[in-house]
Amino acid sequence: MPTLKTLIPASAVASTPPSAPADRPKGQPANPQKYAVEVRPSAIEGQGAFAAEFIPARRKIGEIRGEHVSTKEAFARARAAERDSGHVFMVAISEHASIDASASADPLRFANHSCAPNMVLKVQQGRVAFYALRDIEPGEELTARYGTTHHAGRLSCRCGAPGCIGTL
Ligand SMILES: [Zn+2]
Repeated sequence: MPTLKTLIPASAVASTPPSAPADRPKGQPANPQKYAVEVRPSAIEGQGAFAAEFIPARRKIGEIRGEHVSTKEAFARARAAERDSGHVFMVAISEHASIDASASADPLRFANHSCAPNMVLKVQQGRVAFYALRDIEPGEELTARYGTTHHAGRLSCRCGAPGCIGTL
């Protein structure tokens, strides 16, 4: 069974808030990773992202960066990766545009879906960011609700949360 994490968060796209104020000096690239996150095997699926330090509720944890592609291309790449048992990480940032984070080093691309997540994924000005929904203790697996995926309900959810919707 290939490991395939494809995030197509239609709900996140629909709720894109207005532009956020800059929080850094001009001309200085920000490090989008705000809290330490480590990648290791997950009980949910494949590799997961885990908090390596305490993360307070509502704080930005980090971003997933990658290659900007059309959503049509993203779906084609996801299908090809599924066939080739490769790893592909896609996030839709609008109706027509997606980010392919397959070659990204950002640890949050390994975040698994959970029906009882501790992070929320937000798309802001084409950037994909994760925020803590509650206080997160060191060692907890970081999860987000994916929304609609290219699996279209054909993939079983193994998050184990009470009230799990059962499919992705
Ligand atoms: Zn579930």
